[in-house]
Amino acid sequence: MKNKMLKKYAFLAIIAVLFLSALVGWNDSQKAAAKEKERQPIIVQGPMPIEAENFAKRLKNVKEEKSGDFVFYKGTLDKYPVIVVKTGKGMENTAAATAVAIERYNPIAIINQGTSGGHDPNLNVFDIVLGKRTVNLGSLKTADKEDGQGIDPTAWKPMDLMASEGSAGEDPNAEKARYYEGDKDLLAAANAVKDSYTKGKIVEGTIGSADVWNNEVDRIEWFHTKFGTSVEEMEGASAAQIAKAYDVAFLGIRVLSNNKVNGGKYNPNTAAANQEYVYEVVKKYISTKPSK
Ligand code: SAH
Repeated sequence: MKNKMLKKYAFLAIIAVLFLSALVGWNDSQKAAAKEKERQPIIVQGPMPIEAENFAKRLKNVKEEKSGDFVFYKGTLDKYPVIVVKTGKGMENTAAATAVAIERYNPIAIINQGTSGGHDPNLNVFDIVLGKRTVNLGSLKTADKEDGQGIDPTAWKPMDLMASEGSAGEDPNAEKARYYEGDKDLLAAANAVKDSYTKGKIVEGTIGSADVWNNEVDRIEWFHTKFGTSVEEMEGASAAQIAKAYDVAFLGIRVLSNNKVNGGKYNPNTAAANQEYVYEVVKKYISTKPSK
């Protein structure tokens, strides 16, 4: 009789253990699925095909999606979601592509990368600038001049459109440049893999952006002195502004493809070199994510 009871209890206990372990297992797999879902992608932007496609080709499991002119190459790098975006050139394309990417994909970080023109005479073609700061060079207020008094670009002042919601034209507090800070974790990852790049040096600096290609050396020097720019390009500041609006980590990474100041001739191969380096940066950044 006693024996029978014991057997019955043992049987029930085994069933209970089996049931509980199944429950725990199920729970674990649920958690893993949720974690996978939670992994917010890293966005890597490039304006021209030569500035995006090399990186896109290195992703695994790529699915291509489009919105307007923007192409999103959704894939993985070291099993982590990474989306390369071909934004098209210029501030408008880039701002819109950034907003669309944030709304659609909820990224953890955005890297805007590509070619640029040197403002610093110490930087050569193939050198890379990590954007400790990014600034819009097209945000300017001219001097007050009447009919017939001419045009005086060196008297133009920087203008901060984000200083207030009121008129930037009337607000003296808006007469300053707005610098967007590069995210410190992205910068740390970029600095950590500096040695992987052998085609030039890598420095932290200021990236200036506007839909303008400056070929007047005196004007370039004016920006270099007044805004502290290391390089110019046509995208970074617009992506930085939108990333900031949504509180998404941002970094600009720009290779010099030309430098008018020291005679550095345009070399399109710099675009591929930059993507190789940015690939290492993204890999490093992923390795620091706790969810990995
Ligand atoms: N020379 C290129 C044209 C690039 S147009 C060609 O013939 O294909 C401008 C693009 O190059 C922008 O996406 C911009 O970010 C980048 N760029 C490179 N150097 C630049 C410079 N000196 N001034 C402005 N943009 C530059």
